[in-house]
Amino acid sequence: MDIIDSASEILKKGYVCDNCLGRQFAQLLTGCTNKERGKALRLTLAMQIELEDRDIDTSNFIGIGFRNKVVRAKKTTCCVCDGIFDNLLKISGKMLKEVEELEYDTFHVGVRLSEKLLKNEEDLWESAGIECTESIKKELSRETGKILQKKTKKEVDLDNPDVVILLNLDKNAIEVTINALYIYGKYKKYVKIPQTKHYCPDCHGSGCDKCNWRGLSYPTSVQQLIAEPVLEATGGVDTKFHGQGREDVDVLCLGWRVFVIEVIEPGKRDIDLVKLKAKINKLYAKKIEVDDLRFADKKEVQEIKSANPDKTYLLTLKADKVVMKKDLNKLDALVGVIRQRTPDRVKHRRADIERKRKVYSVKYSLSKEGLLKIELKTQAGLYIKELATGDGGRTKPSIADILGAHVDVVELTVLEVG
Ligand SMILES: [Zn+2]
Ligand SMILES: [Zn+2]
Repeated sequence: MDIIDSASEILKKGYVCDNCLGRQFAQLLTGCTNKERGKALRLTLAMQIELEDRDIDTSNFIGIGFRNKVVRAKKTTCCVCDGIFDNLLKISGKMLKEVEELEYDTFHVGVRLSEKLLKNEEDLWESAGIECTESIKKELSRETGKILQKKTKKEVDLDNPDVVILLNLDKNAIEVTINALYIYGKYKKYVKIPQTKHYCPDCHGSGCDKCNWRGLSYPTSVQQLIAEPVLEATGGVDTKFHGQGREDVDVLCLGWRVFVIEVIEPGKRDIDLVKLKAKINKLYAKKIEVDDLRFADKKEVQEIKSANPDKTYLLTLKADKVVMKKDLNKLDALVGVIRQRTPDRVKHRRADIERKRKVYSVKYSLSKEGLLKIELKTQAGLYIKELATGDGGRTKPSIADILGAHVDVVELTVLEVG
């Protein structure tokens, strides 16, 4: 590749700005901008022209004083970028306006090209090659990003920005996406409410007679309780709740369970989590409790979801016959592998398969009222209620089987997660 020939080829058909000229050689040299590369090439070519004629559109030499030649030139806009690079300050100013009300620390500028710009770029690459080039999108994103960084003192983050500012040249618009805010924490649940918001299965949230026009199957949930003060503090529009494992509505959780609450479109991100924790715990004393609140990211949601911690449960059971203390000793046989087919109550929505899960330890006692208190440490994914009842023979062995009695679950409590 001869740089002078290549540059002449680029400037043959019309005026090409310094950025667009320099961008074709972006992969040569470091520590300089495309604009600087373009300017250097333009001057070099102009000097060359003083010595010999070249087939170059003269509009490319506006403002250059020739010593040995008369070059007539008319000012026009760049035929590659349509003058965008001359307007970077103006465009960045518009972007700033779109985000000035928002609270954020990091941002990223995305670019969508118009059909025309895409074609211009393709034509350019066809005539000048792509050996050392860079895309117009990348340069636009970087150069506007630099301007915004300087003006706002915020950081560019390509992977995980708080806001994405899209320069949509196709629609001639600037579109801002506020990325979610993630707050990590752990909770305990002292009352029988679901973990997450359950929409009414009949109306899917829009409201109907069956759900009393609430749109929800249950009036509240851990998610909704936590979400209210979180949305108030962040000005977000909605939340998603990611718990480390789930628990049924009627199961209490007295051990700390990890969660991440995802706030959709937060207006504020710099919130005081110590205050937030105090507020939640004061508002919902005796219902739920939270602790260890801190900011998190999307990755942690995946980590929480894929972690399968062991759990310790307390089962309170009522048997249909009198159980003696010596009978209870037989429950030691639970320790080991439990074979469990998908429970009857969930098999309409999950594949009917057999799974093997372990019980690590079992402790038992009888209450004064004759209720069985059984504490179990188990592998994740074991259905506990079915371990008690046997689920019509679908879970083996089971507490009911071992005791030779029918048992009802009076209460199930999670004592420890992990
Ligand atoms: Zn240009
Ligand atoms: Zn409904």
